[in-house]
Formats: sequence, structure tokens, C-alpha cells
Amino acid sequence: MISEQPTSKFLEVVCSKCKNEQIIFNKSSKTIKCVVCDNVLAEPTGGMSEIKAKIIKVHG
Ligand SMILES: [Zn+2]
Repeated sequence: MISEQPTSKFLEVVCSKCKNEQIIFNKSSKTIKCVVCDNVLAEPTGGMSEIKAKIIKVHG
């Protein structure tokens, strides 16, 4: 059996600075940055990531 957290999702976000589209994980213990311009897309909070970028799509 694969144990998966029901709240774990992949989010497709758009960087507010350079409009780069990037898929990020919403449950990360690290700060997620835009691969193009280094803008912060998500910051770690207590287990979940606080998404700083605009979410355009949610992949369950
Ligand atoms: Zn960017």
C-alpha cells in the first residue's frame, strides 16, 4: 500500500514576477522558488506550504 496524505497536492502556479509556470508541491518543508527568477513561490509553515504565487491549476 502506498500511504499518501490526502492534503498533498501538486499545484500549477504562475510566478508574479516573470510569469513562469511551474508545478510545485503544496506540502514542502523548504522554500520553493521560481526556477527562472528566484522569486519565492511558497514558504513552509507548520507542515503545509503557504503559496505566494497565483495558483492556476490543482493536480490531485
Ligand atoms: Zn519567476
